[in-house]
Amino acid sequence: MKKALVTGGAGFLGSHLCERLLGEGYEVVAVDNLYTGTRENLTAFAANPGFTFVEADVTELAPGDLTGPFDEVYALACPASPAHYQARPIFTTLTSIQGILLCLDIARRDGARLLHASTSEIYGDPLVHPQEEHNWGNVNTIGIRSCYDEGKRVAETLVADYIRVYDVDARMVRIFNTYGPKMHPQDGRVISNFVMQALRNEDITIYGDGSQTRSFQYFEDLITAFRKYMAVEKSVIRSFFTAHGLGAPVINTGNPGEYTIRALAEKTLELLPESTSKLVFKPLPGDDPKKRKPDITLAKELLDWEPKVPLAEGLVKTIAYCRDRHINR
Ligand code: NAD
Ligand code: UDP
Repeated sequence: MKKALVTGGAGFLGSHLCERLLGEGYEVVAVDNLYTGTRENLTAFAANPGFTFVEADVTELAPGDLTGPFDEVYALACPASPAHYQARPIFTTLTSIQGILLCLDIARRDGARLLHASTSEIYGDPLVHPQEEHNWGNVNTIGIRSCYDEGKRVAETLVADYIRVYDVDARMVRIFNTYGPKMHPQDGRVISNFVMQALRNEDITIYGDGSQTRSFQYFEDLITAFRKYMAVEKSVIRSFFTAHGLGAPVINTGNPGEYTIRALAEKTLELLPESTSKLVFKPLPGDDPKKRKPDITLAKELLDWEPKVPLAEGLVKTIAYCRDRHINR
């Protein structure tokens, strides 16, 4: 039986990944300090004998605290919502850096494969559209998003250098906005905000004039990409990224469908016609990227993967989950 470590395992994406791995017969150890994750996210599989939950902070753990050997390590621990990472900015940068170091050292110790959850924030407020992996980004080092963006950028550097220096079998995914059931109702990100606001008949809060764009990926598509990427042999990874002129294995995963935030608000209300919510406009937070859309050519080529779930279908499922879990309970 293969054994996987998932840091951030009680979070939105981490808990879905644990469930997928357990379903595939893995033994899974999830580590989480429950900053934005919850025990409730684990209830569907907490009793599975192959599952272990370790409540701990990745910034306080040493590799020896986690008994291996692990075959696969997934580095997901990090608050991902601007509201939460900005509430604890220094902790966020340290989590990114120390969290990936912990995972890299474990992967090195055990000869494990590692997948690092990077982000489209690497591109900052992008100068090139859509964003592709050769783009170095346009990121402010001293703004309110920098704790997250720069932490993730250093984490990418550490992964690239562990590959070069120690030959660790690592790969990185730049994740574009991903949503779905199990997002925390107070997460603060746009889809959970709009869905919860519409269900509660509260104002839908559009930041700025709503003309900024994002591309929204349903979580199932992302977890499938994780699993496909983890299955690729190191030698194939090396030759693929070398051939593409990239110094380390990094691919975008996201849904290229691009929507303005205003259009997202309108779509949410269209799917909830009984809602009495109205659109209201609030100030745009600092450094908010104006547009974002992934170029997924590399993921298509390497993984034979592309997202399957359109926004309307994913939103319907997310609305149903939020209604059952947070409104009708
Ligand atoms: P999330 O906030 O639900 O999950 C993050 C998890 O990490 C939470 O359970 C949290 O408690 C845990 N955590 C945070 N700091 C920790 C620490 N110091 N020690 C231990 N656990 C810690 O967010 P998510 O959307 O599931 O994001 C998971 C990963 O994917 C993050 O690394 C995030 O940066 C990355 N990502 C997500 C998206 C997205 O749109 N969902 C986009 C880009 C990147
Ligand atoms: N946003 C919004 N209203 C909200 C939450 C977010 O208009 O209640 C906007 C936010 O300013 C950004 C976009 O929606 O332009 C996506 O925000 P989110 O926090 O989900 O993720 P980001 O991509 O900015 O990290």
